[in-house]
Amino acid sequence: MTKRPRRVLRTMYASRRARPTSLADGPGFLYVFIDNGNKWKVGMSKNFARRRAEWNRECPCPNRVWMRPVAVKRRRRAEALAHILLELACFDRPYDYCPHCRKTHREVFIFNGNQANVWNSIVVGWIAISTNIIH
Ligand SMILES: [Zn+2]
Repeated sequence: MTKRPRRVLRTMYASRRARPTSLADGPGFLYVFIDNGNKWKVGMSKNFARRRAEWNRECPCPNRVWMRPVAVKRRRRAEALAHILLELACFDRPYDYCPHCRKTHREVFIFNGNQANVWNSIVVGWIAISTNIIH
């Protein structure tokens, strides 16, 4: 269990939100996949198809579901804010050893509820918030 306390996350969120946009930031996608039914991974990329192919090659989980990517104006900022909001909303943020690639993945979230509800009510909602506040 590596979910951090709410007050820590709220402070992190405010501080990240106040930070000016980095010159390295720019348009791209937030991508989401679910491994083994309940491990939600959210990341960002300039090129969704390439990143998805990399994941599937380097960490070939046989039970992976890709969700539709979300286009964002500032992918680094959107990802950072989405990760904090998802951590606030999640049940757990495990750091588990992955048998498929032998690494420990970060920014993986487990939520209460079934996949459709989690996608509609939590993931899409928080991603929308994390991207809409950025202009
Ligand atoms: Zn892996």
